[in-house]
This record gives sequence, structure tokens and C-alpha cells, in this order.
Amino acid sequence: MTERIFNFSAGPATLPLAVLEEAQQEFLNYKGSGMSVIEMSHRSKEYEAINAGTESLIKELLGLDDDYRVLFLQGGASTQFAMIPMNFLGQDQKADYILTGSWAEKAQKEAAKLGQTHIAATTKEGNYVRIPQPEEIHRSENSAYIHITSNNTIFGTQWHSFPEFGNIPLIADMSSDILSKPFDASKFALIYAGAQKNLGPSGVTVVIIRQDMIEQGNKNIPTMLRYETHSKNNSLYNTPPSFSVYMVGLVAKWIKNQGGLAAIAKHNEEKAALIYDAIDNSGGFYTGHAEKDSRSLMNITFRLPNEELEKEFNSEATRRGLNGLKGHRSVGGMRASIYNAMPREGCQALADFMREFQNQKG
Ligand SMILES: *Cc1c(COP(=O)(O)O)cnc(C)c1O
Repeated sequence: MTERIFNFSAGPATLPLAVLEEAQQEFLNYKGSGMSVIEMSHRSKEYEAINAGTESLIKELLGLDDDYRVLFLQGGASTQFAMIPMNFLGQDQKADYILTGSWAEKAQKEAAKLGQTHIAATTKEGNYVRIPQPEEIHRSENSAYIHITSNNTIFGTQWHSFPEFGNIPLIADMSSDILSKPFDASKFALIYAGAQKNLGPSGVTVVIIRQDMIEQGNKNIPTMLRYETHSKNNSLYNTPPSFSVYMVGLVAKWIKNQGGLAAIAKHNEEKAALIYDAIDNSGGFYTGHAEKDSRSLMNITFRLPNEELEKEFNSEATRRGLNGLKGHRSVGGMRASIYNAMPREGCQALADFMREFQNQKG
């Protein structure tokens, strides 16, 4: 393979070509330092600038002020599943979870090991084809926080507007749709995301946290698991995943250069429409997993008439440089992950292939 493919993998996922080229160009000698970022001390001036610059770019994109910190942690979004209840779930409280998919379930199960949880809503019945309606959500009385998963990577559903919960801290796992559209980030007490879907390479977890939450965190837990440790030390308490943070910074700069979140959102809507149209205009040959008003603009899940055809579809697509389309085993069928960095041409190529495959086999 001499040319780049269109990579529809759910994560680690495709990154903007311009970002990869910039990293390549600076790889051996970062801004005249005579070394690569990958070799550089995390205590150096150059790295501190990368770290601080990445934090402020993310805050700028989200329209957040000094009430918030952006932390660069390790252990993936999966470690946040435990770190959140460890820090915020008190003994006489309950943590409310809205279950919209496998990742939300995992987050709730982890919290249940550490304290009391309450399922405020679930759409498991019907295999997570939708996001709950506001009136289906029932909070507990003494809620420590309420946790949602903004985009359900496996099932292909997404919250298109966020519910209001008054003063109860709202916490969101945004691993698979962070920085993909404008939203009011100041409604959230904490947002977290593994970088490897929409932000950069694996190895860093971005945590956007409101200052009062940092202060509220439990002090009697291991140092590395306290948000305050990382906040006080500007994410430099221990050696950070420095190269991954640098890449996240390049991706954030790329988003800004695209025109920010509003421009990215418009682009994402157009991209997703190309593929959803191919599903909706297939006369039933392709069927989407998600209900229409819960459809994700990031992960598009669909099935073909039978598994035989799904296998054929996947191998023929791969042959044409459309990779990573095999769906997750819990949903079956296909999944096209079309994060920010997937170009429109990739979505067009997939939609064209879908029509052609249907004409041949339908
Ligand atoms: C991928 C994913 C995770 C897990 O992320 P890790 O960084 O691998 O721990 C959690 N939540 C969502 C929504 C995801 O898409």
C-alpha cells in the first residue's frame, strides 16, 4: 500500500493529514531545540509551552474561562470510570448514571464497586438504539453527580442536546465526540475523553474540570488518583505522555484553523449525511442500528441483509482502501467511524461504494 487509505476505525483513529505532516516536519528538530519532542524533558521550557498552549487552546475552543482546568492524564477513559467516584462519591450519596451503551455500563459498574449508584435512565431494552427522553430520567435524592456518555461509540447514538440538572454536577464521557460540535461546556462539572478517537494518539486522557470540583475531591485516596494533584502541578506531577499531548495540541490548532467548532460541526453534519442517505435510500438493503433522532455523527452503525453479505462488504471495502468498517460484536454489521479528521472524500467514497455494492448484490 503506497497511498493512504480511508481509515474508519473506531480508535485509535484517523488523524488530519496536515497534523501528521506537521509532526513529521518537526519530528527530528522541534523548533530549533535540536531534538524531538519525543526525547525532550517534560521539565524543559519547550515542553512547558506545549503543555500550557494545549490547555489554553482547548479552553479557547470550548469557550471556557479560568473556572476550568484542562488536565492531561494517563490510564485512558477507563481509569476515569474509577477516578470520578473515588473523588466525588461520598458515603451517604448516590452517583446517578444514564446508561446509553457499553461504555456507560462500564462506568457505572466501576462506580458501584466504590459506592452507591443509581440508574437514572437506561435504553438497554432494544439494544441501545436511542438516547432517553428528558422525562425518562429519574434522579436519586442525594445525588453526588450525574454521569452521561455523550456519544455511544459502539451503538452509534449521540446526545444532540444535553438535559438540565440544576446544581447537580454533570459529568460526561465525551471520548468519541469531544470537539466535534459547539455546546455549552460551562454546564459540565467534568468532561473526559481518551484522546485516541477525536483528539490525537492514544496515551493521554483529556480531563476538563471545574475548579470547585478539584477542591471538593476526596483527599484520602492515592496521590495519582486525585485531580488536585494534577491540577496543582499543571499535569506535570509525574512524567506526562508528552508526545501525545503535543499531538493533541496540533489537532486543537488544526480545529481552530478549520474555523473552530461551528465549522467542524457543519463539516461533520455534511459528512454523516452522505452515509446516512446511502442507508435511507437503499430501500431496506442497509438498515441503521440507531433510531433516527439519536443517530451519531461520529459512529454510523448499520447492517446488511445477512452476515454473508456483511463479510463480503467488509472485504471488498478493504480491498478498495476503505478500512476498519467491521462493527463491534455486540451490534454486528458495520460501523463507520467518521471523527473530525475523516475527510469528506472518505465519506463520499464509502457512500459510493455502498450504492455500488447494493446494485450488485441487492
Ligand atoms: C473508547 C471509549 C472509552 C475507553 O477509552 P480508553 O481510553 O480505551 O479507556 C470510553 N468511553 C467511550 C465513550 C469510548 O468511546
